Amino acid sequence: HTGRGCYSYYQEALEQQTNHKNSIRQALKQAIANDGLTLAYQPQVSANEQLYGAEALVRWHDAELGFVSPAEFIPIAEESGLIHQLGDWVIQKSLSDLMNWQQQGLQIGHLSINVSPWQFALSGFADRLIELVQVKGLQAKHICIELTESSLLTDLKETIAKLNKLRAYGFRVALDDFGTGYSSLAYLRDLPIDILKIDKAFIDELELHQSSPLTESMIAIGQHMSLDVVAEGVESASQVAKLKQLGCDVYQGYYFAKPLPEQQFQVWVSQHKR
Ligand code: C2E
Ligand code: CA
Ligand code: CA
Ligand code: CA
Repeated sequence: HTGRGCYSYYQEALEQQTNHKNSIRQALKQAIANDGLTLAYQPQVSANEQLYGAEALVRWHDAELGFVSPAEFIPIAEESGLIHQLGDWVIQKSLSDLMNWQQQGLQIGHLSINVSPWQFALSGFADRLIELVQVKGLQAKHICIELTESSLLTDLKETIAKLNKLRAYGFRVALDDFGTGYSSLAYLRDLPIDILKIDKAFIDELELHQSSPLTESMIAIGQHMSLDVVAEGVESASQVAKLKQLGCDVYQGYYFAKPLPEQQFQVWVSQHKR
């Protein structure tokens, strides 16, 4: 089919990969329709040990496939368009949980929701989010949306308009995985955001008595721009000490807590009162 004089090898590995992806896509579709997903919540802790917020992370256990990581199924959901239903479910479920916590008097700071570039690209995204927040009787200031650079740079003008609209309504905006993209610095100046999340890869580099020029510079940039700086994937006391020294205000990682199922998260919050 490729044309005269061309030949190619049959690649069994490639076919297996395609089959695996197909079964994930099929099963995921069912899971979204049949309430088969759950959310875990990971606390974000500030330098004075208070709860700053929590990030909602989607979880999926399939009867046949077992636990599938979002790092595996989110890209498949994005390729197949399922991300729109999945993303909408994540927003609805996390807002319901937030409403329940508030009704019980649990203060969690703000709830952070991951938004895929595909979701954010839809013209109705902001209106849908605002509608759901109103329906649940919530205040936008308690909600943060996490976006990666790839969401933001396709059409910068349009992105800025969207972000301005969301922020004018009260939402907070976090730039996720900061440092892993290509064009961070050139665009950072123009993006109306509130929070920089420094990717785990840069936190891994931190040792108390060594210098880590890139990580240190990223934290400094965030500070100079008056953004909150959140360190992702904090796993040790020495990283926390180093981050404190560098003036990084908020930490998220296994050192403080893993992403927790909703019930366990509630217990964690009640034991770590703000
Ligand atoms: P992310 O948004 O960068 O989320 C942080 C990831 O780091 C999570 O992986 C979290 O469990 C993990 N993590 C947190 N602290 C530590 C630590 O101390 N050590 C280590 N090794 N890992 C830590 P998770 O839950 O597997 O999610 C992976 C990615 O999947 C997320 O990366 C995000 O890009 C995507 N994702 C998860 N939930 C959603 C969702 O609801 N919607 C969308 N669009 N994407 C999601
Ligand atoms: Ca995130
Ligand atoms: Ca991240
Ligand atoms: Ca990441």
